[in-house]
Amino acid sequence: MSQILELRDVDAFYGQVHALRGVSLRVEEGEIAALLGSNGAGKSTTLKTISGLVRAKGGSIRFLGEEITRLDPHRIVELGIVHVPEGRRVFGALTVLENLELGGFTKRKDPAFTKRTLERVMHLFPRLNERAKQRAGTLSGGEQQMLAMGRALMSDPKLLMLDEPSMGLAPIIVKEIFKIVRQINAEGIPVLLVEQNAKAALKLAHQGYVLETGQITLQNRADLLSQDEKIVKAYLAN
Ligand code: ATP
Repeated sequence: MSQILELRDVDAFYGQVHALRGVSLRVEEGEIAALLGSNGAGKSTTLKTISGLVRAKGGSIRFLGEEITRLDPHRIVELGIVHVPEGRRVFGALTVLENLELGGFTKRKDPAFTKRTLERVMHLFPRLNERAKQRAGTLSGGEQQMLAMGRALMSDPKLLMLDEPSMGLAPIIVKEIFKIVRQINAEGIPVLLVEQNAKAALKLAHQGYVLETGQITLQNRADLLSQDEKIVKAYLAN
């Protein structure tokens, strides 16, 4: 399998706060990798460091064989890493369709591509299709999450990074969202998934990593991690 993303010994700081301490992880072609950990472990910081929003102080980040550690965020998006942040951040005053069209702006030069991708997104998210003219701010939390993911797909990602897509959503909606993540991945898009919902994430993922106070303390195949005693105790017990 070829490698899509590789972090080696990545360090990141917020002022004096050492948020990532030598983080190494990989996402392989066609796979979903889950990054688990409790509040404040550094999961969001890991994604922000990959997308260039937080500068790595040490170590290296390679994407499709290219060193991206010191690139600007807009260059990293252009290379195909698309980050759906925690809290979704859709444009509330714009319609669903306008939000999606904005997502495709890096590909605007190719209208045929945009049209095709829009059809694909609407097919993947029938709820968005039904609500194309509705203002995004009036969507439910689950629908906003779908919109944020749909918008990410509009830019033809080569790696999709999702930060806590299940946050604040009812279990039935979480199921729906995760089913769509599986479908997106089955279409060939690798996914790096940050989740506090470890049980659901490990069911979906191929590989799992556990982050604790900025360090990867466990990594393994997801099916094996979900049987790991330490994981079961810390994250899966309920
Ligand atoms: P959560 O699930 O609560 O978002 P997380 O694992 O994603 O947790 P991060 O948000 O990556 O954790 O935070 C890692 C550490 O960095 C925490 O100690 C947090 O307080 C700190 N941190 C995050 N953002 C900043 C910031 N902008 N300035 C200073 N410290 C920050």
